[in-house]
Amino acid sequence: MINLNKEKASKKITALKEKIRKHEYKYFVLDDPSISDAEFDQLMQELIKLESEFPDLITEDSPTQRVGGAVLDEFKKVKHSTKMLSLDNAFNKEDLIEFDQRVQKNLKGEDYQYVVEHKIDGLSAVMRYNNGTFELGATRGNGEVGEDISNNMKTIRSLPLKIEEKAEMQLRGEIYLAKSEFKRLNKQRLENDESPFANPRNAAAGSVRQLDSKIAAERSLSILIYDLISHSKREFKTHLEVFAYLKKQGFKINWYQAASNIESVIEICQDWHQKREKLDFEIDGLVIKINDLALRKKLGNTARSPRWAIAYKFPAQQKTTKIKDIEISLGRTGALTPTAILDPVELAGSTVSRATLHNEDEIKRKDIKIGDIVLVQKAGDVIPEVVKVITEKRDGSEKEFEMPKNCPVCGGEVIRPEGEAVSRCTNISCPAQRKESILHFVSRNAMNIDGVGPALIEQLLANNLIEDYADLYFLKQSHLKDLERMGEKSSENVIKAIEASKKREFFRVLYALGIRHVGIGAARILAENFNSIDELKSAKIDDLKNISEIGPVIADSIVNFFQERHNIDLLSRLKQAGIRLKNKASQENENFLDQLKFVFTGSLNDFTRSEIKDLVENAGGRAVSSVSSKTDYLVIGDNPGSKYDKAQSLGIEILNESEFKEMIKKKRSS
Ligand code: AMP
Ligand code: ZN
Repeated sequence: MINLNKEKASKKITALKEKIRKHEYKYFVLDDPSISDAEFDQLMQELIKLESEFPDLITEDSPTQRVGGAVLDEFKKVKHSTKMLSLDNAFNKEDLIEFDQRVQKNLKGEDYQYVVEHKIDGLSAVMRYNNGTFELGATRGNGEVGEDISNNMKTIRSLPLKIEEKAEMQLRGEIYLAKSEFKRLNKQRLENDESPFANPRNAAAGSVRQLDSKIAAERSLSILIYDLISHSKREFKTHLEVFAYLKKQGFKINWYQAASNIESVIEICQDWHQKREKLDFEIDGLVIKINDLALRKKLGNTARSPRWAIAYKFPAQQKTTKIKDIEISLGRTGALTPTAILDPVELAGSTVSRATLHNEDEIKRKDIKIGDIVLVQKAGDVIPEVVKVITEKRDGSEKEFEMPKNCPVCGGEVIRPEGEAVSRCTNISCPAQRKESILHFVSRNAMNIDGVGPALIEQLLANNLIEDYADLYFLKQSHLKDLERMGEKSSENVIKAIEASKKREFFRVLYALGIRHVGIGAARILAENFNSIDELKSAKIDDLKNISEIGPVIADSIVNFFQERHNIDLLSRLKQAGIRLKNKASQENENFLDQLKFVFTGSLNDFTRSEIKDLVENAGGRAVSSVSSKTDYLVIGDNPGSKYDKAQSLGIEILNESEFKEMIKKKRSS
């Protein structure tokens, strides 16, 4: 840190406080941040640091001296019996070790243990239960006075309204919106022409603050409990004991893990950098707490936060950056997708320099221009996206984006069909489209052909070795060997990988075909409803629409796919190559009578002679005319002839018609 003199420090502190207040208002009061949480945290850290260097510059009104934002008027105010503090932050391993050293020093050699929990990115709430019933729920507000949101909290399904314990007790927990629920809500809002929420936290905050609890109920809020503040009848020794008790009382408890020292705490923290993506709710870090409640008391609090806990914050997932340019990339269906080229930023531990903008309408809706400063975010494994434009940062030099009239790869005409959001290159032999469709075909969820990547596909196309994905199956090692960066060994591996993909399940093949709008989920459903590609091909549009998960758009697209001659040709070459174009069950069971020899005698009720012979032969069995020692079964109808006696004398198994049907059924499903 640069050494500032007091005068300069004072100026800097005043400016920082102003800035933080402005952002606090936007973030906590309006739920409409113009900077990311990480950038806000950074400002705060800066102020804390400065104030600790010049403690006599700390003023009563400094953001570091209070816990949250202002209280809104609309709800009844609730004074908290115990002040709801904030948590100190740790951003790395060193901060955690420092925290541990402080604890160690303050406990003067006493033994202690930690409990690590998720730091759920929602809103903290306090709940009061009395005589076994939920009595009050309140927000944190400014830490001393919150808002009565009991009605909205009652809509949270996982929160018990009645519990066994007939005592007065107060709990704390975090209200949040599940990621899946957030997605659903935003989709719905877009459909209703309402602006979508920036993230699940803002959505949860907006829902908790609904004056109409019916709206809150529609939002499906969740809560996880992480603390017991008071209890009129019981005393507990440890946090783990409290959790066990609360669990028993029917509360949904926050995830936790005990850790005997700071090293294992650090390990747990690092472990969750990746693992958190798998959760259906956002966590922005982990909270590390002292397990022993007596030791917590001993450690006490500062004005702002407890000394017995710290929040470990993950690297940021949202940041502001500049859109340097908007580039067009081409998809396998010829769709032109605009992509923002960003000034690179660190986001969730990786450098982000591109963000998807989806389509023209999305750019219009978000009012994105080239040169804009935007808030970008990365959630899970998804491609980073632009949350919103920081319009205050515009200086007039920003440029409007326009969709090109011609394909940037082949120069073909670009059209945007009526009622569609997507613009497409209309040239069917556009090389970009071919490459993308092959890339899709070999991708992990599709045929999973390792070793066939973008570079190889480009070479294969350029050398006229393939024109489409079906051609892959007719490649020989001799074709590959002489390509760039393709030795004996790697060409052998490529051929092996292509060969191995012939065993991929039918639904993956369906997905791999690249039928527009048929994602892996739809492909699975189609494979459940149609046993083979031929069944699917002969399906009528209404057969498809009648499947509940298949909408009219997918149905149309499937029918159109099978109407194109090129696609029929593709399929026949795939069939020739031995790709699985039917479900495994029906394919394996096709031979369920594997070489068994059948003889028939007498008149059957449910089959003609040729029908039953077809049935047996189509299932891989053989229908023979006379009984011998090699016959496996004799099937008898009414008035059997001499074959019956012969079979009996040879000890051959004899079935009547219903026994035969029973056996077929059993073998088919085995
Ligand atoms: P901060 O707002 O960054 O100062 O962090 C304090 C806030 O973290 C609390 O007010 C809670 O809203 C939230 N929080 C989330 N998960 C937990 C948890 N497991 N334990 C304590 N606080 C939590
Ligand atoms: Zn093109």
